[in-house]
Amino acid sequence: EKFSQLPLSKRTKDGLAESKYEKMTEIQRATLPHSLCGRDILGAAKTGSGKTLAFIIPVLEKLYRTRWGPEDGVGCIIMSPTRELAGQLFEVLKSVGRHHGFSAGLLIGGRKGVDTEKESVNELNILVCTPGRLLQHMDETPNFDCSQLQVLVLDEADRILDVGFKKELNAIISQLPKHRQTLLFSATQTKSVQDLARLSLKDPEYLSV
Ligand code: AMP
Repeated sequence: EKFSQLPLSKRTKDGLAESKYEKMTEIQRATLPHSLCGRDILGAAKTGSGKTLAFIIPVLEKLYRTRWGPEDGVGCIIMSPTRELAGQLFEVLKSVGRHHGFSAGLLIGGRKGVDTEKESVNELNILVCTPGRLLQHMDETPNFDCSQLQVLVLDEADRILDVGFKKELNAIISQLPKHRQTLLFSATQTKSVQDLARLSLKDPEYLSV
């Protein structure tokens, strides 16, 4: 099955084709029909399975369909366990999302600001971050505004929890608007991942590949 068979915007289809993605991987085939309908997802998938596109595509489509504009602020937060993984998925986001014109920024440890020309994180549409750095930003920036958040992505949730970010994650999630779509991907389904799923997902579709 190909991406071109999915009900995607021309912008996303072009971005995928130009990034040389044509056929879906198993996790993409399993999750995209549900995530594109707005469902919450609990995806059991390893690194290398293609899960990055399984969340980037619904993020782009959600913001596109809600006609998200430059002035609408933070519409999506993507959380990743490490700077390296955050940096990698940021590149995929920029490549596949090239025709959308959303502003995206990387907020990761070891850097003061964000990797963007924007004056403020509030002006970014898509924020790719590590949990510790995002919580620090929330604490230091009382006017941080994520009240319009549409989508939250928790990538490699088991690894986020492994590196000891459980408290940070709970603190962040408690500050996010409840009315949102959440996509959670994890290679393993440990007890702490299940706890996180209960805390962050609403009536999720569970998909394991
Ligand atoms: P990920 O699991 O998201 O880190 O992806 C693992 C690797 O698979 C990356 O190098 C991707 O570029 C590649 N990949 C993901 N989805 C596809 C696809 N549909 N077709 C071809 N390669 C893909």
